Amino acid sequence: MEARGAAHPAVRILDDLVRIQSVNPHYGADARGERDVADYIEARLLRAGLQVTRQPVADGRDNIIAELRVGKPESALLFEAHMDTVSIGSMRDALVPTYREGRLYGRGACDTKGALAGMIHMMERCAQHPERLNADLVFCASVDEEHAFIGLTAFMSLNMPISGAVVGEPTELGIVVEHKGCTRFAVRTHGKSAHSSVPHKGDNAIYAMMDVVRHVRETVEPGLDGIDSPLCGKPTIVVSTIGGGSQINIVPETCDIRVDRRIVPGESAEAVLADFERRMKTDLPHLELTVNPLLLDPALNTPHDAEVVQAAQSVASRLGMNKSLRGVTYGSNASKLQDWKGIPAIVFGPGSIEQAHSAEEYVPVSEVVQAAEFYYQLACSYTAGQKE
Ligand SMILES: [Zn+2]
Repeated sequence: MEARGAAHPAVRILDDLVRIQSVNPHYGADARGERDVADYIEARLLRAGLQVTRQPVADGRDNIIAELRVGKPESALLFEAHMDTVSIGSMRDALVPTYREGRLYGRGACDTKGALAGMIHMMERCAQHPERLNADLVFCASVDEEHAFIGLTAFMSLNMPISGAVVGEPTELGIVVEHKGCTRFAVRTHGKSAHSSVPHKGDNAIYAMMDVVRHVRETVEPGLDGIDSPLCGKPTIVVSTIGGGSQINIVPETCDIRVDRRIVPGESAEAVLADFERRMKTDLPHLELTVNPLLLDPALNTPHDAEVVQAAQSVASRLGMNKSLRGVTYGSNASKLQDWKGIPAIVFGPGSIEQAHSAEEYVPVSEVVQAAEFYYQLACSYTAGQKE
């Protein structure tokens, strides 16, 4: 595989992006955050003549927002991709793009710098020919998708009118319109402490939690079998941490678990949590327990007839790509756009989630080129209100 010189411009951008460390600051002391990659993107987009805003989100962590206005604000199309990556971990030469068998290896190559590079290239091309656009374009390179998505939250607080969105994540060039979300919560059982020489004077919170865990395994989990989403499969529930008691000679007063419940399109994160709490209280009335939310992340459930979906399908057919609509199990910023603001969103990008976050992260170079072309064709052909 020929490296830089002969490569497609989107691949050269990706090569640059991989060399710039942008590990999310929540993932280790060596993490540099998005600062340097934001500088790079800002400089490029300014050079292209775009209107660029640097939106401060947290200390040294700014979203880069570029706008290309052609007088159609009511039909603005948003392209969004995150700048942060997970930690380098055990990946070798993670910041030196390596080309092997048509693939580019490097941290973030697939999650999600391949998509980011394609979108940057698309914005640069559109800036040269704004007369080809039928909708205003907004591009947001966001911070912190890999942790608590504060970048996307800050972007949405701007309340820009957006009629459709494309979120860049690895989908192997499939058009993703549905994905799972999750409800994470903590459960605490409350007992009564006593000296362990007289346990009958206490009430053991760990034993109470055993009832809760058994109920989750024997009743709640099998009950999920009845729910099936055509594109995303079944919901799941996992009790993933447990801890209780304070000292070996004291009957434990409290015991805590944390639970990860993956929701499918059609389920609401809030309703699932409320339902869990209600069921525990009705099914296990002898227990004193509290349930507290940790993270509520909506599922993506974009209407298949949304304009951005239809436009994406016709571009895919024209480019000889698969135009069938897909669902995935991982989450993305797309569901927040749809759930919080009612913006129809698709997820589309090069590479596979199988390689994201791994020690062997790579993206097929040809998919980066195809994704860049797909974004460009979609930007040119998108017109909200095109169908009645
Ligand atoms: Zn990602």
